[in-house]
Amino acid sequence: MKLHRHLHLRPLLEAVALTRDSEFDCAACSRHVAELADSLKSPSTPLSRELDLTRHHLAICQQCHDDFQMLQRAVAGIRE
Ligand SMILES: [Zn+2]
Repeated sequence: MKLHRHLHLRPLLEAVALTRDSEFDCAACSRHVAELADSLKSPSTPLSRELDLTRHHLAICQQCHDDFQMLQRAVAGIRE
């Protein structure tokens, strides 16, 4: 299986402001990451505060970012 890193997330990362009043930790992020992946499939839907914080955490946490990319690949794989 070929892994294509650095796909998909660049526009997302650039859209995220890197400073916020409150931040998710990894545990909180992992509770919402599947929902976030789902929400990003319909970009017209505004993100809830939780999902916005999850997205922010992904921008600053390499581990969760990698997990999220794997999740997105899994989601994309289901569609193919
Ligand atoms: Zn994390």
